[in-house]
Amino acid sequence: MGSAAAMARTAPQRALIFLGPPGAGKGTQARLIAERYGVPHLSTGDMFRDHVRRDTELGRRARPIMERGELVPDEIVLGMVEERIARPDCRMGFVLDGFPRTLAQAEALDRLLEAHGFGRPVVLHLVADEALLLRRLAGRRTCKLCGAVYNIYDRPPQVPGRCDLDGGELVERPDDREEVVRQRLASYHRQTRPLVDYYRARGVLVDVDGTADIEAVSRQVVALVERAAAS
Ligand code: ADP
Ligand code: ADP
Repeated sequence: MGSAAAMARTAPQRALIFLGPPGAGKGTQARLIAERYGVPHLSTGDMFRDHVRRDTELGRRARPIMERGELVPDEIVLGMVEERIARPDCRMGFVLDGFPRTLAQAEALDRLLEAHGFGRPVVLHLVADEALLLRRLAGRRTCKLCGAVYNIYDRPPQVPGRCDLDGGELVERPDDREEVVRQRLASYHRQTRPLVDYYRARGVLVDVDGTADIEAVSRQVVALVERAAAS
């Protein structure tokens, strides 16, 4: 049991999907459960931010859309996700964070999961009220070097403004400004929220109380995933 891989719990061989509004804690929880099972954490937001940083063609298309708080067109997102899921490290399962976000993306994901021999996904719906989301987004800071996420109110770094892991500078995401946040919440309600009914009707969605502290939410997530994976 020396290596991290050997320490990892048996991978669920499922797609675990975190669904919820901006600031609900998708990235925080996705990272924790992916580490626990030793499977990849696929965040479409992180992938886009990486393209923007590297100034790729995809990044140049996505950047103005993200800055307005709108959703990047499905065909761009789908190409990126399809390529990522096809890689060998996803064979034992993977954690999706921020995808799918539209009904068309959810339907395309169903086809992808079937093509790769995965069964039904486990959808973890993080529920939190708007006042809490606004506070979390206003306090969110991200390491410029490794992408680790902190919160100046709820999860402060040991040294203000510096990442605990690598000392990188902690910065605010440009789309966490209040006026962009409002647009992102509107996009969520209009385009993403219908996925709650889509997955609930299929019996694969579980509600998670996203208002508890990070460790308590994580305990709920682990228990729900273990129950779902055993069924
Ligand atoms: P949050 O974690 O706050 O919900 P993300 O980091 O997931 O935000 O996404 C940031 C932005 O990236 C979104 O506002 C959107 O512009 C774009 N984006 C990320 N994932 C998707 C997706 N699946 N479909 C369309 N746009 C996306
Ligand atoms: P999302 O990916 O859904 O947009 P994040 O995981 O990035 O959400 O979390 C948003 C902000 O709230 C971050 O600053 C994070 O540190 C903080 N946060 C996440 N989960 C919790 C929690 N359970 N309690 C308090 N703060 C949290």
